Amino acid sequence: MVKNKQLKATWLAKQFLEIIKSRPHWPAKEIKETALLNAVATILPNSEHRHYARHIFAHWHKSFRGEDLKLKFWTACKSYNMADFDDAIKVLAEDNTVAKLAFRGYNPSLFFRAFLDTNTKVDVIVNNLADTFNGYIINSRTKHLIYMLEEIRSNLMQRLVMKRMEMEKHNKMLCPRLQAKLEKEKELAALCECMSSTRTKFQVNFYMDSLNVDLEAKSCTCRKWDLTGIPCCHAISCIYFCNLEAENFVHECYKKET
Ligand SMILES: [Zn+2]
Repeated sequence: MVKNKQLKATWLAKQFLEIIKSRPHWPAKEIKETALLNAVATILPNSEHRHYARHIFAHWHKSFRGEDLKLKFWTACKSYNMADFDDAIKVLAEDNTVAKLAFRGYNPSLFFRAFLDTNTKVDVIVNNLADTFNGYIINSRTKHLIYMLEEIRSNLMQRLVMKRMEMEKHNKMLCPRLQAKLEKEKELAALCECMSSTRTKFQVNFYMDSLNVDLEAKSCTCRKWDLTGIPCCHAISCIYFCNLEAENFVHECYKKET
């Protein structure tokens, strides 16, 4: 890991300079993006890099318009596993082969759920921390620098206190939003047909799909559990089959104690 001192503006400026020297006629926007990508890749070599799917959609949608194509784009983006992703791509290609090729050109491994790393336990592809934070400080940004920073600091301080107080009152194992997501999966679990293979491994039939669940590895072949850390409906049907509680199988990072 590179030392934190390399995060200084002078170091970042050197990254920009090297790019400009190698390709002097590059557009400024592209230079900025490449320099930042290189900088992040150098400082955080082991962290996953994701692209923002909504920006890619906005660019792609300029050439390929229509509600039908829009729906197919998002179906492919939101597929959790390769089988669903390939099906979505086939449907898109049947409709418009050029649109499919253009779609592939955006490097799917950086913004499709089917390719995302399962270690981070986050399936977000349409938003990111920076956008959320920008929305949060949008009113403060109109002010003078010092007043803006002071307002952001005091708002964040109040927010942290409020969130802490809310969670202290909350008497369940999971955070409220996570609990709501889990409840939706529990409802779908009633539609799953579960068959045990070993004490912890199961085959689950759900509509036309057949999936393998491993409760010990906290994994399902649909990849939703692996990617989000929240048991999918297939896994919950197996958990109930074993007379256990779904809450105990949620990743530790979502628990109130953590
Ligand atoms: Zn599943």
